[in-house]
Amino acid sequence: LPGTRASGRKFRLGVMGGTFDPIHHGHLVAASEVAAVFDLDEVVFVPTGHPWQKSSRSVSPAEHRYLMTVIATASNPRFTVSRVDIDRPGLTYTIDTLRDLRAARPEAELYFITGADALAQIMSWKDIDELWSLAHFVGVTRPGHELHDLGRKDVSLLEVPAMAISSTDCRDRVAEDQPVWYLVPDGVVQYIAKYGLYRALEPADRFPA
Ligand code: ATP
Ligand code: MG
Repeated sequence: LPGTRASGRKFRLGVMGGTFDPIHHGHLVAASEVAAVFDLDEVVFVPTGHPWQKSSRSVSPAEHRYLMTVIATASNPRFTVSRVDIDRPGLTYTIDTLRDLRAARPEAELYFITGADALAQIMSWKDIDELWSLAHFVGVTRPGHELHDLGRKDVSLLEVPAMAISSTDCRDRVAEDQPVWYLVPDGVVQYIAKYGLYRALEPADRFPA
């Protein structure tokens, strides 16, 4: 993809970070809506390695989360997936994600997309002052969470269609044999079943060949 567009303005790259365990339509709608409103050229989904906020619960193997993200985004020509976080050893911090993407895509302006719950915690993130210099932040509404104004001009707030979906709920539903059809993309429903993810009695230790 070219560094500048015909208009001469800089390439706008949205960054959607998440554990994506599994990716669901809340993530996809948020990314699509921010892309439309901010006229983004591309949104890169970045599955986390070992998320520092979630070190207590066991997260599915990165390769499964990466592949589900690829499946969910494959049909959108502006959506891509990056391995920067899953290929970096150690805990994942957003500051490292943004530094790596900056280095890989120096021509792009970064727009980091985050839901209301994650935005509320942002002030506690590692190297917060440098974060502001690396990207513009877009906080999106999420049912059940208040979207707080941080009072900074490098943070925009955006109302997106309300999707009362969480990965936690999707995992619980699979474990209880309830459907996740229409909460996650069809290919992700099938991927979860194929590898027995989230089933209490069937540990997620199988991998594609
Ligand atoms: P979990 O329940 O495991 O925490 P999750 O549904 O919160 O999963 P994450 O991978 O933690 O999904 O979230 C990645 C990003 O997407 C975060 O910024 C989060 O706020 C945002 N997000 C997740 N679900 C929604 C939703 N339904 N609407 C808007 N934003 C969302
Ligand atoms: Mg979450």
